[in-house]
Amino acid sequence: MHSDGVNIMTTKHRHCYATTATILEIPPPLRDVAKNKILLSLYFGRKQPSVESMYGRLIDDILTLKQRGLTVENEKNEIINFNFRCQTDKNDLPCRAVKWKINQFNENYACTHCKQEGNTLNSPLVYYPYSDNHVLRTQHDFVHAAKLAASRSKPGYVTIVEGIKGLTPLLKIYKNVTEHCIFDYMHAVCGGSGHIGHLLQKWLSHTSSTTATQMSDFVLETLIPHDVKVIMKSFSDLEWYKSKELKFFLLYISMPLVVKFLPAAIANHFVLFFLSIRILHFYEDVSQIDDAKEFLQQYRKELAAIYGAKFELYSVHLLQYFPNQCRQHGALYTTSYFSEESFLGYLKSLRKNTTVKIGRNIFHQYLLQTTIHKDETLTLENLFIDEQIYDSTYISKQELNKFLPLLQQQFQVNI
Ligand SMILES: [Zn+2]
Repeated sequence: MHSDGVNIMTTKHRHCYATTATILEIPPPLRDVAKNKILLSLYFGRKQPSVESMYGRLIDDILTLKQRGLTVENEKNEIINFNFRCQTDKNDLPCRAVKWKINQFNENYACTHCKQEGNTLNSPLVYYPYSDNHVLRTQHDFVHAAKLAASRSKPGYVTIVEGIKGLTPLLKIYKNVTEHCIFDYMHAVCGGSGHIGHLLQKWLSHTSSTTATQMSDFVLETLIPHDVKVIMKSFSDLEWYKSKELKFFLLYISMPLVVKFLPAAIANHFVLFFLSIRILHFYEDVSQIDDAKEFLQQYRKELAAIYGAKFELYSVHLLQYFPNQCRQHGALYTTSYFSEESFLGYLKSLRKNTTVKIGRNIFHQYLLQTTIHKDETLTLENLFIDEQIYDSTYISKQELNKFLPLLQQQFQVNI
C-alpha cells in the first residue's frame, strides 16, 4: 500500500491524497502497469488530512478481507479463493509521518526504527549524526509510546512521546512497524531532495564553473541505450531533473563522472554509496546484501568528515535500513515508488469533470475504466516502431502468422 499527495489543479486550493495498492503476486514489471494497480481511497478536502480522514473505512474493509478472504468465479465457473494480507506500507517521508503518527523528518525522534533524538546544530533543521550504538525501537516500544501519547492527548492538544503522537489505525493491519513500514528509495535517494540530489548540488557548488560545465557536458554526451526512455538535461537545469533522470544518473553515469572530475578523496568515498545502491537496486545473489550493508555503514561513517555535519539529514540516516528491507521484501527496484508516480498520473488523467466533486469523479471514472473490457492486442507498428512488447500474450497471433512463412524461409526458424 502507498499514499501520496496528488497535485490536482482547481480554482480553489484543495488537498488530494490517493492510497493505492500493488498486487505482489503479479511479477515485476507487469505489477507496475496501471491496469494492474488498485485505487483504494481518495481524499479530497480543504485541510491536510489525518490518517483517519485519508483512509475513511478502508482499514475496516481490509480487516474484513483479511478475515474472510476473497472468492472469485472465473469464466469457466470455477471458484477461486484468495487469502488476503498486506505486506508493506510505503510513502514519502512527510506522508509516512502523518500515517504512522510520528514526528516529521525535520524534527527530533523522527525515526520509526530507532530512538535517536537528533541534533539541531543551531539551525531550523534536525540532523541525525552517524552512530553505531543508538537504541532501536521494538514493536513494544512503538505501541507503548503510541498508547501513552493517545491517553494523554485531548481534543486540540497532542502529546508527543518519543516522537510518537498517538495510535495509528495502521497498527491494526501491520504487526511490526520496522518490518512493514518501509522506506522509499525513489524519494530518499533519487528525488531532488534525496541524497543524490544533495550530493550533486554540493559537488557543483564546490567546483569551478569550467569544471561544472565539463561535468554537465559529460552527462549530455553520454550515449543512452535506445530502450531507456530518459533524456538527460544540463546541470544548469538540475532543479528540473525528474527522479527517473536522477536514478539513471546515479546508477550509470555518476561513478565515471566522479572519478574523472572530482578529487580522489570524494571518489573513494562515493564508490561506497554507488556500489551499495547498485547492489540493493538489483542483486544476483542475496549474500551481496551483506557487502552493501558494510559499504553503506562505512559511507555514513565518513560522510560528515567530507561534507560537514549538516549533510547528515534523516534521508541519510534511513539508508542503514535498506539492506534489511531488501532481505525482507526484495531488491529496491521491486519496491520503489517509480511505478506509483505513473499510476497517480494515470488517475489524474481520469478527471473528466472540472466543476463538482473531483474526488468522486476520478473514482467513478477509475471504476468505469476497470470494468470495461479492452482489446489490448498490439499492432505490428506498436511492436517494431513503438517497441511496446511487455507481455508476449498481447502479440496478435493473426498478424504474426502473416510473417511466419517469410521468417522460416529467411532465417530457418520456427516460432
Ligand atoms: Zn533510525
